[in-house]
Amino acid sequence: MGRNHGLIKVREQVVMAEQVAAIGGEGPYVTPYWWQAAPRRRFDDMPLPAMADVVVIGAGFTGTSAALTLARAGRRVVLLDAGAPGQGASSRNGGQVGSGNQKFKVAALTAWQGAARASALLREGTAMLEHIGALIEREGIDCDYTVCGRFRGCVRPEHYDAMGRDMEDLRRVAGVESFMVPRAEQAREIGSDYYHGGSVLPNDASLHPGKYHGGLLDRALAAGASVHGFCPATAIAPERSGFSVATPRGPIRCGHVIVATNGYTDGLVPFLRRRMVTVRSAIIATDELAPGLVDRLMPKRRVYGCTARVFHYFRPSPDGTRMLWGGRVGGALRGDAEGYRHLAADMARVFPALAGVGIAGGWSGQIGYTFDDMPHMGAAGGIHYALGFCGTGVSRATWFGDKIARKVLGDPGGASAFDELIFLSHPFWFAAERAVPWVEAWYRLRDSL
Ligand SMILES: Cc1cc2nc3c(=O)[nH]c(=O)nc-3n(C[C@H](O)[C@H](O)[C@H](O)COP(=O)(O)OP(=O)(O)OC[C@H]3O[C@@H](n4cnc5c(N)ncnc54)[C@H](O)[C@@H]3O)c2cc1C
Repeated sequence: MGRNHGLIKVREQVVMAEQVAAIGGEGPYVTPYWWQAAPRRRFDDMPLPAMADVVVIGAGFTGTSAALTLARAGRRVVLLDAGAPGQGASSRNGGQVGSGNQKFKVAALTAWQGAARASALLREGTAMLEHIGALIEREGIDCDYTVCGRFRGCVRPEHYDAMGRDMEDLRRVAGVESFMVPRAEQAREIGSDYYHGGSVLPNDASLHPGKYHGGLLDRALAAGASVHGFCPATAIAPERSGFSVATPRGPIRCGHVIVATNGYTDGLVPFLRRRMVTVRSAIIATDELAPGLVDRLMPKRRVYGCTARVFHYFRPSPDGTRMLWGGRVGGALRGDAEGYRHLAADMARVFPALAGVGIAGGWSGQIGYTFDDMPHMGAAGGIHYALGFCGTGVSRATWFGDKIARKVLGDPGGASAFDELIFLSHPFWFAAERAVPWVEAWYRLRDSL
């Protein structure tokens, strides 16, 4: 087979895998594990309303949360998705629920934003974590939500002291509870010698993202939102009092538009395209493990991460029988076992006991990054947006969806510390996605040195 032919074949496989994924899909290396218990629903058989108060574009956590708040406030809401609602990152993620605060170096955030705003941003992160737990409880969403805590392992010895200082800063500046676990005591947290100690954020949580999204969507539907899958917004045109949103099933005239497309942001709103960088991440699920093995490897059944630049994240499945291991995308887009081999190898490096275990399948999804590593919400040309969760979107997207809906409603509860951030593009934004594999390779080299 010629070189070009080979490339075309891989490209065809990629397109096929994505198409299968788009229709709700089949195949162990296409369909997310979460879709077994929470199959995607198409929502493609209802007539599209010609008018609405608000059109929300993108039906992941952000869009669905916004639609719920708006519908409960009595607004006529149309929620659109280019595929099955929730089929983007919101039903593909690791189900690790945090405040996002662990991503910041507090000293650097303070130097950048000043002490008062840094504290406000961190405290709002904590509020997001509390909000999602309270929402799930209040709404009675059955999604295996568990306050299990998060362990983050240090991949180099010198990371331990730096992490300790950062955790102390988080406590002082924003009251975040955490504790350090030295390497000598690490066995009580994790059945691996790979890390040089770590920290625990005891209030972080886990959930089943497919079930959580389904529950949120059901609440939005019950509140009166009109939900339409496989109905992409293809253009947004300003009108005298509002907008017209074009779709393949006809236009919708509306007073307001909210764009909630995060890692799936295309050229619909050029302002956003110039500010978003899509990065892929992939996850594998092992076969059911031998009884007792999960408890030996993850005795507290927390969610787990590490300090590497190209990091891995993992957790037990909600029923406690499998390892769900996430990390770099590698060849995952091929949609076959070979494409996910690198994740099994990474997993075996941390947990030698898992070398050679059966892999039930894998999947990947798109994460929306911004150039300042911060989520953003606001309005551009009158079009509202909330996106850029940089890989921590379970709590943040839920929160930002609610906030942006409240802004549309003119509710003072829509105010956020994140309002003050300037949403910058980059002179080379158009090259950023193509550069991601090179940056990742450079980071991996630095991680390994
Ligand atoms: C593999 C993976 C693992 C992750 N793990 C975690 C984790 O453990 N914890 C955590 O907090 N976060 C995690 N994340 C991130 C988290 O899933 C996201 O931040 C969050 O789901 C974003 O939600 P969203 O609603 O903004 O975007 P999405 O859920 O991605 O939804 C965007 C939607 O917009 C739709 N869309 C795009 N263009 C259009 C258009 N023109 N018209 C109509 N619809 C359109 C897409 O079809 C898509 O459904 C992970 C992400 C991935 C991919």
